[in-house]
Amino acid sequence: MPERFESTTVMAGSHENWRSLLPPAKESWPQSVKIAHQQISTNQSLTIQQGLDLFDEPNLHAIGELAHDIKTARFGQMVFFNANVHINQTNICTLACRFCAFRRGRRAEDAYALTIENYLEELDKYAESVDEVHSVGALHPDWNVDYYAELFRSVKDRYPNIHIKALTAVEVKHIAKLSKLDVRSVLTQLKEAGLGSLPGGGAEILDDEVRENICKGKETTSEYLEIHQMAHELEIPTNCTMLFGTIESSLHRVKHLFHLRDLQTQTKGFQCFVPYPFLPDDSRLPDAQLATGSEILRTIAISRILLDNIPHIKAYRMNIGDSLSELALQYGADDVDGIVQQEQIMHLAGSNTNLQSSLGDLAKIVVNAGGVPVRRNSTYTRFELFDAEPLESRNLPRVRTLKVIQ
Ligand code: SF4
Repeated sequence: MPERFESTTVMAGSHENWRSLLPPAKESWPQSVKIAHQQISTNQSLTIQQGLDLFDEPNLHAIGELAHDIKTARFGQMVFFNANVHINQTNICTLACRFCAFRRGRRAEDAYALTIENYLEELDKYAESVDEVHSVGALHPDWNVDYYAELFRSVKDRYPNIHIKALTAVEVKHIAKLSKLDVRSVLTQLKEAGLGSLPGGGAEILDDEVRENICKGKETTSEYLEIHQMAHELEIPTNCTMLFGTIESSLHRVKHLFHLRDLQTQTKGFQCFVPYPFLPDDSRLPDAQLATGSEILRTIAISRILLDNIPHIKAYRMNIGDSLSELALQYGADDVDGIVQQEQIMHLAGSNTNLQSSLGDLAKIVVNAGGVPVRRNSTYTRFELFDAEPLESRNLPRVRTLKVIQ
């Protein structure tokens, strides 16, 4: 069966020689940003100290300019998005992470666990318009590899062209434990059943002391990295993430990025990095320091600068909203999360991002940020230039005659 959209001749993907396309450092930039530019353009990774200096640098705009220059050297004006739907298969969880608004105990009134038929019914609603189903959920006490293998097989039987991006590292670990199998066997079985990639969630902050405090019982730092490494070895591409704005320091964030960069040096299996802030409510994690708008942009921009070997940086609009996503696309991000249609994890935590977006709405975000919208598939191997309305048509009128209210 043909893919849903034809690949165009867009030269999308990382220019091999992108470093040579970086414009020179600006005279006005502070020393920390000039040093970062020098390191990047001479193919030397930044040090931890240099990463920390960027977090301390008052001139946020200069950091954003360098990040955007790197993004532009790699992808020009192109900004990528896909047509996806999120289906969260269950909220019943054996853990109780302090930041999580999604999980429920088995006996909670609003606890749910989709049967395979329920799941397919959900997917049926969107299948005509999406290329990807993105499924993460809680750690269901009974679902082992058989449930997920049957689920993925059923999806593929009905919709062979829909890419399945599913399961965080901790879900994989949990399924392996319940199935009395090792992680490699679980990933192998799930790949055979139709799993296409892992979304990368659950990294939170890759520091075991922080993890002990905010997500006790989850996979350790090294387990997160090992599970992704194993996926890469099995040629299952993955994304990676960072949840920031809980109780971590800037050193924790920099070290987190270095862990990912080091694994990517070995495997080259990460497609995209997705940084997103903790969304607070009254009940969870009162000690979280939270992230302001400028801090979110700074973290996205520094991610682009430090992760010079991970091609894509995502503006995760489910979490940061459409307005901040537009700005993120000028601070180093080159990818904006898809049409989504339904999503529970971020929305239960307080997100009010529109769930009924169309591809045209995504293209509008991209055009508003000065980019050229490009629809992509899940593995960044097929692309299509998206025909978006030009920005001019949405400009404010220069003059408007207002009615005088008496
Ligand atoms: S973050 Fe995941 S593992 Fe932790 S409580 Fe929530 S659903 Fe469970």
